[in-house]
Amino acid sequence: MIYILHILYIVCMTGIGLFFLILSISSLFEREFRAAFVALVFLIFNSLLWLFLNTYSDIESIRSSNVGGFVVLAIFGVVSLLRFFPKSGEKRDMFQAVQYDERDNMFSRNNLRNYPELMKEYYKDKPDREAIDSDIHNRPEFGSKEHTYFDYYATPCFEAAFEYLERTIPASNGNPAEEKMEIDKEEFSKAITEIAKFYGASDIGFTSLENYHFYSHRGRHADRWGEEIKNDHKTAIVIVTSMNVEMFRKAPSNAVIQESARKYVEAAKISNVVAGYIRNFGYQARAHNDANYDTLCVPLAVDAGLGELGRLGLLVHNKYGPSVRLAIVTTELELPKSEKKKYHIENFCGFCKKCSDNCPTGSISGNSEPESRGFRHWSIDQEKCFSFWKKIGSDCGVCLAVCPYSKPDTFMHRLVRFYISRNILNQRIALFFDDLLYGRKKGLPKKTPDRIFPDK
Ligand code: SF4
Ligand code: SF4
Repeated sequence: MIYILHILYIVCMTGIGLFFLILSISSLFEREFRAAFVALVFLIFNSLLWLFLNTYSDIESIRSSNVGGFVVLAIFGVVSLLRFFPKSGEKRDMFQAVQYDERDNMFSRNNLRNYPELMKEYYKDKPDREAIDSDIHNRPEFGSKEHTYFDYYATPCFEAAFEYLERTIPASNGNPAEEKMEIDKEEFSKAITEIAKFYGASDIGFTSLENYHFYSHRGRHADRWGEEIKNDHKTAIVIVTSMNVEMFRKAPSNAVIQESARKYVEAAKISNVVAGYIRNFGYQARAHNDANYDTLCVPLAVDAGLGELGRLGLLVHNKYGPSVRLAIVTTELELPKSEKKKYHIENFCGFCKKCSDNCPTGSISGNSEPESRGFRHWSIDQEKCFSFWKKIGSDCGVCLAVCPYSKPDTFMHRLVRFYISRNILNQRIALFFDDLLYGRKKGLPKKTPDRIFPDK
């Protein structure tokens, strides 16, 4: 019996060695050199121990220690598979939420600098915002040479992408075909999912529409500023496009806004096609994409079972973390809802705080969830965050880059995602290793790196 347990221990150690070998090689492919090095150190240590325990396995005390080692590993393995999380506190009641007014969004407020009449109207109601907004208005606009991360050849690329998005807004809506065709709702949802993925969506979810999913008033464009948003649609289709993690690692440089723009273009294209597809069956459908949303993406994505709200105030997708861009299609059709799942991401956010520790402006709370708009939820200090964006001339994205959930969708990271979905102890261990492998604190680059775009 003791001999069998000793052999099992040696087999386990071989497995652990293989794990560190694969981790080291895959980290090299991901250009995560620190992680590759740390995994290599673990591999060497494990191999030396393996060699020692195997060589001297005839000695009684070594054999007994191997048995003890196996028992510890076996307990560890069983505990890793158990599911236990502390009971989450008070449930978030979204139906209590005061609807968000798009005029309060920083992009809308930044646009006001071009419309003195609207500016007067806005600050008459919100005088406390005038000073901070005036400071933001006075900062150079995105694309300016004065910005920290301006790049002579790359900057006009994201500008072109956002100009293109502006021109595609009319494609987001239209009249449905005259004849309403009969559809099987299950089959139709399946077809929509396949089409969205065929056009490049990384993930997709369905949910029914509630008032709290909508802005109360429009604010992004001067011609419709202040219009009340009315909804007569029943279902939202949430389209996820995952971003290139390597681009985000260069945060907060120009690479972040390039990747962000690319994925907004992609999300707009997919949502416009899906909305047009539904209209071809004779049903109303409208795409909501960058600078053209009536809807709030995060609560929709959470309700569609795609992830949870993270400390950084964004959706943390169950597979791609917060490194995603979202577009929505709303339709009058009542389609089957995706299952809303518990991924325990919010639990992880409770103690992780990596985004908060790394935010260069202190915009992310390191304490418990604040309450605003009538309900408890993570939200950031958008004024501080946006001021910084206008200083550097790029989306910042440091919070996305450091988030332990922002990892490529590889076998190793899938394994870790499964591991942390089981229990609170696994989550604590995973965060310890995330800090060790990838570092707790990220340094900020002084300028945009010479190579912005990836090799392929
Ligand atoms: S984008 Fe940058 S400044 Fe804004 S919250 Fe994230 S880390 Fe902070
Ligand atoms: S960095 Fe940590 S605390 Fe912040 S969103 Fe990601 S998991 Fe949550």
